[in-house]
Amino acid sequence: MCADKNHEKSGLLKSLLGNKCARCRRGAIYTSKNPYDLKNCLKMPDTCPVCGQQVEVEVGFYYGTGYVSYALSIAICVASFIAWWLFIGFSIYDNRIFWWLGVNAFILLVMQPLIMRWSRTIWMAFFVYYDENWYQGPPEGSGRANATFKNAI
Ligand SMILES: [Zn+2]
Repeated sequence: MCADKNHEKSGLLKSLLGNKCARCRRGAIYTSKNPYDLKNCLKMPDTCPVCGQQVEVEVGFYYGTGYVSYALSIAICVASFIAWWLFIGFSIYDNRIFWWLGVNAFILLVMQPLIMRWSRTIWMAFFVYYDENWYQGPPEGSGRANATFKNAI
């Protein structure tokens, strides 16, 4: 066991829910902690602040998140349908199913910022593998690499 909180091992689910970098599971991949800060909720740093992993792995990397957010939305619909069925029930003799449709649409709307952020985090975890000892070094264009380049001119 290590006393330093930064060296605690983080589980996959916890790192996904907390929107952490897929490589080190410690660095935050969003600059804003609050998903409902709508202007900044999808802003990401260039590299992970802990391990230096590039957050946007290639140009257009996050276009594929549509598939993940679709799957997450369907999962939420199914969960709310089952919960409604168990606690309120459905009947052909009243409007309960329409109430469920309205409530479900509201839930999806309210959860949208969370779904978008989780989709990117999950999409990153598909392609970037966990390695707790991985360190990329300082980002390109800063620090030593740049100084060496200037000296060479
Ligand atoms: Zn990282």
